[in-house]
Amino acid sequence: MTGHLQSRDITIIGAGIAGLTVALALAQRGAQVTVLERAGAFREVGAGLQISPNAGRVLEALGLGPALDAVSVRSDGVVLHDRAGRQVARMPLAAHRPGAAFRMIHRARLVEVLERAARAAGVTVTLDREVAELPELPLLIGADGLHSRVRRALNGPETPFFTGQTAWRALIPDDPGTPDPYARLFMGPGRHLVSYPLGRGLRNIVAVVERPDWTAEGWSHQDDPAHLRAAFAGFGGKVPGWLARVEQTGIWGLFRHRVAPCWQDGRRVILGDAAHPTLPFMAQGAVMAIEDAWTLAACLDAIPDQAGALARYQALRVPRVTRVIEAANGNARNYHLTGPARLLGHAGLRGLSRLAPGLLMGRFDWIYDHDPLAVRP
Ligand SMILES: Cc1cc2nc3c(=O)[nH]c(=O)nc-3n(C[C@H](O)[C@H](O)[C@H](O)COP(=O)(O)OP(=O)(O)OC[C@H]3O[C@@H](n4cnc5c(N)ncnc54)[C@H](O)[C@@H]3O)c2cc1C
Repeated sequence: MTGHLQSRDITIIGAGIAGLTVALALAQRGAQVTVLERAGAFREVGAGLQISPNAGRVLEALGLGPALDAVSVRSDGVVLHDRAGRQVARMPLAAHRPGAAFRMIHRARLVEVLERAARAAGVTVTLDREVAELPELPLLIGADGLHSRVRRALNGPETPFFTGQTAWRALIPDDPGTPDPYARLFMGPGRHLVSYPLGRGLRNIVAVVERPDWTAEGWSHQDDPAHLRAAFAGFGGKVPGWLARVEQTGIWGLFRHRVAPCWQDGRRVILGDAAHPTLPFMAQGAVMAIEDAWTLAACLDAIPDQAGALARYQALRVPRVTRVIEAANGNARNYHLTGPARLLGHAGLRGLSRLAPGLLMGRFDWIYDHDPLAVRP
């Protein structure tokens, strides 16, 4: 039995990817949804996101497949390179699972598609509305990101720890011609760089280095592109050409956060980065937010008792997001191997990629083949 969302009033804090996706999912099931967002406008903020099929299934079920295809690039998979630019392994993830879409998209385009669909489904999105005090409401959803007030209200203050890694991100004009359908990852000692096309003539770059000095966490800090070029001066292949085109770059410190112990109290509930910020090494931050959104709406729709629905949502999501976050933490080490460990690691990957590509890619089946629509609330 579903239908328990009909005409329920629900307020969401935050119009990021988590907030807009859950707003749309709830409205499509009959709820009256209001989203409060502190930003005064949806601006061109952020850079690239990779949206793997596990989130793609949700977005397609919400009716967004064609709108997304119009503003994203389909990815064939990932190619790993060494620092000199030589190929170490190729993972044709899309060919491995026909029919499943891996998309590469600018964050602002995804937000735009979600916002348009949410408004069309009857959601009220109020901009320029910072929520300073949490209102007493029958149901309040905290989709308020990394520094979530709702998380703090449920869990008290917490201190994330700095991983010793800092990331730059930049958008550059893409190489001429048809966009290369692979995300490319270049690995060097203590650093790596990922780049992929976003369509509309843009290419995304994320470059991570281990450095002990601290950089603030957040998406709005700027740095001098010369620092990025200097950090990757020893890299070959396409990297020097790409970095020469960087005119502006953001920088952020990578912090590890605990998955929040408490996601809900029967009346307030969190999802996305508010519940479980992750390091970017599995490209699953936005993807987990989208999975959360579907599961939260499905639980509220299927389970008449709100406290029971919220508890079920947390129970369904914690094991999965914890496993994904641990996989991302592990990749932080794998990409940055030094000395003999690096030679061995790369030789192993080369061998696997040639002799048993299915085995290499099969390591990620549990992430990409997951179908949130098939999970029983
Ligand atoms: C400006 C920005 C740029 C980003 N750029 C990238 C990027 O380039 N690449 C990448 O991989 N990821 C990026 N991310 C992160 C990525 O979008 C998230 O990790 C992921 O999508 C999870 O989304 P979320 O909706 O849970 O959180 P977020 O995307 O952080 O959204 C939270 C929303 O809540 C709003 N909010 C917070 N507190 C309040 C409050 N008190 N009252 C009202 N509104 C509030 C924020 O303004 C924000 O819009 C960016 C996030 C932001 C906010």
